[in-house]
Amino acid sequence: MASPPEALAHAPLEWDTPLYRMAVAQFDQAVPVADIPDDIAERLRYPERSIIVSIPVRMDEGHRVVFPGYRVQHSSILGPTKGGIRYDLEVSLGECAALAMWMTWKCALLRLPYGGAKGGVRCEPRSMSLPEVERLTRRFTSDLLPVIGPQEDIPAPDMATNEQTMAWMMDTYSMQRGYAVPEIVTGKPISIGGSVFRHEATGAGVVMVMMRACDKLGWRLDAQRCVVQGFGNVGGIAAHELHALGARVVAVSDVSGGIHSEAGLDIPALEEYAHLHGSLEGCTAGLRVTNEELLELDCDILVLAAREDQITGENAWRVRARMIAEGANGPTSLEADQILGERRILVLPDILTNAGGVTVSYFEWVQDLGRLFWTRDEIRAKLAEKLSDAFDRVWDLAEDREVSLRTAALVSGIREVSNALEARGIFP
Ligand code: NAD
Repeated sequence: MASPPEALAHAPLEWDTPLYRMAVAQFDQAVPVADIPDDIAERLRYPERSIIVSIPVRMDEGHRVVFPGYRVQHSSILGPTKGGIRYDLEVSLGECAALAMWMTWKCALLRLPYGGAKGGVRCEPRSMSLPEVERLTRRFTSDLLPVIGPQEDIPAPDMATNEQTMAWMMDTYSMQRGYAVPEIVTGKPISIGGSVFRHEATGAGVVMVMMRACDKLGWRLDAQRCVVQGFGNVGGIAAHELHALGARVVAVSDVSGGIHSEAGLDIPALEEYAHLHGSLEGCTAGLRVTNEELLELDCDILVLAAREDQITGENAWRVRARMIAEGANGPTSLEADQILGERRILVLPDILTNAGGVTVSYFEWVQDLGRLFWTRDEIRAKLAEKLSDAFDRVWDLAEDREVSLRTAALVSGIREVSNALEARGIFP
């Protein structure tokens, strides 16, 4: 494939934002190690399809607000695209494009028959009522009807969306078809075909990957002091699992700030507090710290489970953890990666560490298609097997090629997609 003409190469792409550039820069770092053909690499640098919709929502007071919504599908080479829907003020086409690309490598690394997608609506969900969020979700789903489907693109929960959001999406889609289509989304309630282990899957998977890394390093997980940023689906469950396994969780945080106790926090009590109050705001279970301070606390393992771009060139020198586990997507900038590498702080990369969610989503989709459901223990065991297989491939490749775990994880995913694209050929 020849390079694009000069004018095209310099035309700004609609999804060209710092996060998208970071995803492409990571890809470009991995490509020489992956050793894939140039035309394949060029194709994979861009999302296949990106759409923007404007969603009119009637607010409780009666007036209408129009919200921008996005869905980006990066690659459909291995199967339907798959990825979360987030509601957040920072959602943009570029953010979705970056996250969709990471989803492609993640699914391929786990050897799931999916490509990557991501979507969301730019809104402030905390300031909206439940009926407003429901109307927003139903209209957004309706606007996406031409591009989603169980064999096309399958949404899932992400930041500020949950089982309820997925239930509304599934119902809206099913109403258009005239029959129940549970396989259109994953992460939905168990009563409508959800998987018994999906809610815990990402956080539990983060801890499974941490455990494998500790085994390799000869550390005991239950002897580690852990800090967890983010107390939502991923961080809350990861903190819970760590606490249950006997590790000392010395600090946790959410958007309202952090709580620190060197003696270790009572995680079930904090979960109850957050459930009752909607967040950790006002909680006095330990010393209050800011989110910036939390990232720099003295600890063994720092779990990043809030959002992207948290460890940067600015604060990476001050991180005191020995290991970082990326539960969130893209929480470490390229510059930070370099600094952490120089400081020999091991980073368990997002596309491996938080892959438990999409893996159990895949199990959920398979169960929905077959109308045959597995037990919690079966799902947990299958997840552990999948994550451990991917972990070992990444660890061995990193040792063999003397690259970071992130590069090794990306290379493994990129190679899977490249092999498939080479076999299929670039159409027409
Ligand atoms: P969530 O909305 O359930 O939780 C996010 C948490 O982070 C909340 O506690 C929020 O208060 C907190 N938070 C937000 N901004 C913060 C900040 N600046 N500092 C500290 N805390 C902050 O979302 P989630 O589903 O847990 O997703 C978290 C991250 O994990 C995202 O990057 C998401 O893409 C990624 N992820 C989620 C899943 C999943 O299955 N839910 C799967 C893979 C990756």
